[in-house]
Amino acid sequence: MSKVIFHTDARPVDFIRAALPVAGEPLLDARRRPLHDLRISVTDRCNFRCTYCMPREIFGSNYQFMPHSDLLSFEEIVRVARVATGLGVKKIRLTGGEPLLRKNIETLIAMLVRLSTPDGQPLEVTLTTNGTLLAKKAQALKDAGLNRVTVSLDALDDRMFERMSDSRISVSTVLRGIDEAARVGLAPVKVNMVVRKGLNDGQILPMASRFRHSGHILRFIEFMDVGSTNGWNLQEVLSGTEILDRIGAAFPLEPVQAGYRGEVASRWRYADNAGEIGIITSVSQPFCGDCSRARLSPEGKLFLCLFASRGHDLRTLIRAGGSDADLAGLFAGIWSQRNDHYSEIRGRETAKQQKIEMSYIGG
Ligand code: SAM
Ligand code: SF4
Ligand code: SF4
Repeated sequence: MSKVIFHTDARPVDFIRAALPVAGEPLLDARRRPLHDLRISVTDRCNFRCTYCMPREIFGSNYQFMPHSDLLSFEEIVRVARVATGLGVKKIRLTGGEPLLRKNIETLIAMLVRLSTPDGQPLEVTLTTNGTLLAKKAQALKDAGLNRVTVSLDALDDRMFERMSDSRISVSTVLRGIDEAARVGLAPVKVNMVVRKGLNDGQILPMASRFRHSGHILRFIEFMDVGSTNGWNLQEVLSGTEILDRIGAAFPLEPVQAGYRGEVASRWRYADNAGEIGIITSVSQPFCGDCSRARLSPEGKLFLCLFASRGHDLRTLIRAGGSDADLAGLFAGIWSQRNDHYSEIRGRETAKQQKIEMSYIGG
């Protein structure tokens, strides 16, 4: 974790010179990992209370969410994104909380897609959603220039879905959102299923069957010890290997080559050409060695790892009138000292560490 912190009135000019990459060279962290992805959490609010993410006992009616004035404005978000593209970011994912709850999110998307990487390539902009508002918003998101969506869905059975999401929303609402996203061209749609052993693992095969031949890519995610409130324990993790064995026994699978360095899901295709699935094995087979993702919280803190306990404040510098060069220097300095590799050292002790909640920095 970086020790570099600049306070309100700091102008980190010397640091900028030291940390900014030489033109054409990638910005590397302390483990020689380049910066490639930026995940932007646009809100800490959500209309679900998934037990593994925002358990209602903690995120109940008395929970204090961030006031709107603390959130980065769209202009401030775009500024961070522009600086990040200058440092190597090629892909932005909007997340939350539930990103479709942020008012006029399509305006932000339209602003982001106008950015380009230093070599003139358009920036890829995607979004992860629980799908409840997707049927209504898909066309506007597409029109704004969004490239693709990922939709979370942990069960096909309504009762199990209700238990996982702790909501009254029906599975058909989310399925309608997925269909509409594909229809308007936000494809291929990825569908994320978090698997909690002993709870929704009976839904693995129904989900696999449902999404075969659909053109959507179903991805199974091992239950992770993100945050400090979800009561995680290793006994509830069904490993990626076990998930693959169960699916492969019903529908034979073949491996697919990774698309790029740092791709989080290992990819598999059905041998009968019924489509592709992915497995995200953050617990059983960590992929920190290739982790190229930075995360921006709703109020402008930069996090370097999903399991970090603290972030680096960018908003103070932005609101104090810092220039883009100052911001680039701050960002580059933080990234260049990054040494996070939590999933490689996960153990009984690390699981007890105070960590930031996933609903705050996004998945
Ligand atoms: N609300 C949106 C959604 O659910 O898609 C976006 C934010 S959510 C934090 C992003 C992703 O993180 C979701 O796919 C969710 O299932 C996943 N996630 C949350 N908590 C998790 C946990 N403890 N283990 C594994 N994945 C988790
Ligand atoms: Fe909300 Fe997404 Fe977290 Fe579920 S996983 S509580 S939908 S932020
Ligand atoms: Fe990246 Fe942290 Fe996950 Fe490792 S544990 S892959 S460093 S986010």
